Amino acid sequence: MDLDAVILSPHFDDAVLSCWHVLASAREVLVVNVFAGEPPAGTLGSWDRLAGATDSAAAVRRRMEEDRRALAFAGRAAVNLPFLDGQYREAGQTPGEIVEALHGVVVGGTRIYAPASLGDHHRDHTAVRDAALALRADGAEVAMYADLPHATVLGWPRWVPNGGSATGTDPVSERWARQLEGTNVPVKRMVANAHRLSVGDHAAKLKAVLTYRSQVAPLEHVFGCSLQDPQLLAFEVEWRLPLID
Ligand SMILES: [Zn+2]
Repeated sequence: MDLDAVILSPHFDDAVLSCWHVLASAREVLVVNVFAGEPPAGTLGSWDRLAGATDSAAAVRRRMEEDRRALAFAGRAAVNLPFLDGQYREAGQTPGEIVEALHGVVVGGTRIYAPASLGDHHRDHTAVRDAALALRADGAEVAMYADLPHATVLGWPRWVPNGGSATGTDPVSERWARQLEGTNVPVKRMVANAHRLSVGDHAAKLKAVLTYRSQVAPLEHVFGCSLQDPQLLAFEVEWRLPLID
């Protein structure tokens, strides 16, 4: 299979939450769930506790099954990498190990979509972003996506729903630009694209998102949002990064 795009999803739901426009496209797309490892028996992570779980190994297996069903709505499948979610480990995750694992999955000519790690800079999202930036340094084509709902706790920048320039001066635009500077890629060389999903695509995305049944309550609680808010998940944003010569 000739892949057109690989979506790096730090957790099981990130690709569906943030990249439905890619999943619903006619391209050959593969999802790679990076932090999809099963922790040792007896582990109970803080996020899983919030989700009402009592055993994290079982929670991971449940999330994997939710993901399989959610991606099937778009006719997609995922490869699950064995890295442990941040809630199950003390140490940071070095991007180098993720790059190593991705060498077996990503082939030349495939565009890589990676989280921009906006908002709260979740360390798992940042590790995946940095792995993608390392692959870019070796010549890969990389696009970064606004991670929903992390990126939108203060709402969308005005240029997303209204059109216009991504260099707008509203507070959310300015905050995003500051956060994007953390990539060390000049923000003015990134090409921002805002996607407004059609009514049908938004409805399909919502159906897929709600398939992650164990995740709806903790996501809405932690990010203070309703996933069914028509303004929230109907838009997606990606930045194409310039190629390294
Ligand atoms: Zn995530």
